[in-house]
Amino acid sequence: MTEVLDIAKKDGRWVECPSCSEIILTRKLEENLWVCNHCDHHFRLGADDRITTLCDPGSFIELGVDEQKVEEAQETALKSGCAMICGRACFLGVMDFKQKGGSMGVAMGQKIVRLMRAAREKGLPLVFFSASGGVRVQEGIWGLFQMLRTVHARDRIAGSPVITVFTDPTSGGVTASFSSLADVLLAEPKARIGFAGPRVIESTVKCALPQGFQDAEVLLSNGLLDRIVHRRDLRETLAFFLKWF
Ligand SMILES: [Zn+2]
Repeated sequence: MTEVLDIAKKDGRWVECPSCSEIILTRKLEENLWVCNHCDHHFRLGADDRITTLCDPGSFIELGVDEQKVEEAQETALKSGCAMICGRACFLGVMDFKQKGGSMGVAMGQKIVRLMRAAREKGLPLVFFSASGGVRVQEGIWGLFQMLRTVHARDRIAGSPVITVFTDPTSGGVTASFSSLADVLLAEPKARIGFAGPRVIESTVKCALPQGFQDAEVLLSNGLLDRIVHRRDLRETLAFFLKWF
């Protein structure tokens, strides 16, 4: 039986839930917005799947692809553009953890700045989905500079509303820069959000951390988030906030 399941999982028809180990039909999972119907585990979404499940059908238009430099156009860890959510127009940035861990390098920094400028010029709110391991360390100091650069860009559009949705996982320099500087901070259930990883913190403070130390639920109880939103309610919740802007 196990061998049959292994074969089925390999060809992509079935997926094992990493939280409750249930074997789920991929088609069923897709219909359920990639949320386990046994334990409510929210599977990580790539940028394309996120856009498909979130935006009104066919409404997403990628931002100025022709104007972008080669490095920006090839930067696949962030998709940026404008879209409609339940009939409300907004600019949208979606990080993709499956692409280079969603890490923020120079090209992504440029894309974020361009997205913020576009939102300000058009007078539309900006919705940002963060999913990142942090700054792209391979780019050294230039990667770290992106924290300063994006915070500065956020400061310059201070009058424009920004909504951040933290998804699993968001950490490092992305948590510690522009993504935490939103007017509304939302998160998906059980999303891990933090700066350093738990093992690094444990080895520094020399004591064991409590269970779920960096879970969205703990952050909410400490006042660092405004709301935790189930994926099935995300469109309506974003539309609710967008209508105020
Ligand atoms: Zn499950």
